[in-house]
Amino acid sequence: MTTKVKQIPEEEAEIFVKFLEKLIASIDDKDLEKIQKMVHDMYRGFHSEKRCYKCGVTRSTMYFHKDSSRYDGLCAMCRFCVAEKTAIESEKRREVTKEWREAHEYESKEHKAKSMSRKERREQILKGAK
Ligand SMILES: [Zn+2]
Repeated sequence: MTTKVKQIPEEEAEIFVKFLEKLIASIDDKDLEKIQKMVHDMYRGFHSEKRCYKCGVTRSTMYFHKDSSRYDGLCAMCRFCVAEKTAIESEKRREVTKEWREAHEYESKEHKAKSMSRKERREQILKGAK
């Protein structure tokens, strides 16, 4: 097995190293903790798996959203199932809104018929001004 390593020009590498040194120097303990946690999470994401309760597929935990309220800090459903559920729910909401609008349409028509149009109102105001 051969490993392909991309070569970086020396002067670019030097600039990069200087940048890293500056970056590391500017990190305080709090940031360091955060970075350690991020690296840990990423590592854990790559190396652990979880079974989705909805589709039953075991996937890398990278495919699960974070949920701090759960014991393992991850959603019970995988990202794909969450996306599907969200799509179904928004479709349902759209239907309910449509039904409501259809059911109340006659009311709004009546309301429109009762209330003055913009033109009528303007004419009335102009009449009053005379
Ligand atoms: Zn799933």
